[in-house]
Amino acid sequence: MATTVEALSRARFRSDRTQRVNESVIREMTRLALEHKAVNLAQGFPDFPAPEILKNAAREAITADINQYAITWGAKPFRDAISAKYQRTYGLDIDPEREITVCCGSTEGMMASLLAVTNPGDELVIFEPYYENYGPDSLLCGATRKFVQLHAPDWTFDPDELRRAFSPRTKAIIINTPNNPTGCVFDRKSLELIAELCQEFDALAITDEIYEHILYDGTVHVPIMQIPGMRDRTILINSMSKTYAVTGWRVGWVLASPDLSHSIRKVHDFLTVGAAAPLQQAGAVALALPDDYYTTMADDYVARRDTMLEVLEGAGFRCYRPRGAYYIMTDISGFGYPDDTQFVHHLIKDVGVAAVPGSSFYEDPRRGYGMVRFCFCKKYETLKEAQIRLRKI
Ligand code: GLN
Repeated sequence: MATTVEALSRARFRSDRTQRVNESVIREMTRLALEHKAVNLAQGFPDFPAPEILKNAAREAITADINQYAITWGAKPFRDAISAKYQRTYGLDIDPEREITVCCGSTEGMMASLLAVTNPGDELVIFEPYYENYGPDSLLCGATRKFVQLHAPDWTFDPDELRRAFSPRTKAIIINTPNNPTGCVFDRKSLELIAELCQEFDALAITDEIYEHILYDGTVHVPIMQIPGMRDRTILINSMSKTYAVTGWRVGWVLASPDLSHSIRKVHDFLTVGAAAPLQQAGAVALALPDDYYTTMADDYVARRDTMLEVLEGAGFRCYRPRGAYYIMTDISGFGYPDDTQFVHHLIKDVGVAAVPGSSFYEDPRRGYGMVRFCFCKKYETLKEAQIRLRKI
């Protein structure tokens, strides 16, 4: 057992940058769910199987001995499939040789991109509430953050507040649409406004589009890269995780103009060398799936969303109806708990359902005290079990 003096001297091994960040609350909730055998509606990953065609392709790739490193920025067939899909879906022309970096999930894609384009002290504009990772990602880069509020119930932003967040020191704005955790989807007009500011202030848009195909009620996803003037000002991040229900495969990609990709590839190479080679082969199959794969998936999620809205409303939550992604933000103020974290701990330990405290999506935790996020990318039997347990609230 270290004495106090020894313990103090150990502090010199804790870097300043790690001191600035905390453990992920989303991942912590999954561990707590496992510990207490709670139904995990916290971390957003499906509990149903991935498409058989993908699993076969991965198995075949291993059998065919695709077991060694792929090219650091991605196996050629996978990059070609990514390029073809963006052409087919959005009419975007992406050069597979110079504008794609395959990485270990969009998590690495975001970190590699931020490390590639920011210097300590640069400013990043971030909409709040935000997907938890953007907080630590930006802190690890030493960036200064300017938060812009998305206002409930529609999670829209005030254009003047957005303008005030930009300055000559702004390096980039981080966008996540369809949005985690709110389920809002930015329309073309909002994206045009962001695009205008990026151009006026010579800033980049770093856009996390991982839920691009998970859309409800006729909502359309617009990649900001399509907006005039944004083609070479956008770093587009995405992954196989959500679209193909393979969050544990850790295969994502970053699209950016050749000069930006050049920097991103250097960071990526020294961070991870590359994503799993056989899974990239399966990725080539996934990205070539016909359009009806995406429409069927979205139809399937809309039914799960509606089920989950019913479950939560039945249990007394006020729900913000998502138009995309697979989360429901809820208002818990009616339950009389002092904050979201105490409420979620009660939910996990006494009720047997795990969720994510709203405060983990805010810089100032107090803003999220009245909110809790549930995910619904789960089997109906899982949602049903949650419904039974939530009666105990
Ligand atoms: N995107 C998922 C969520 O918000 C989790 C992602 C992760 O834990 N890497 O729950």
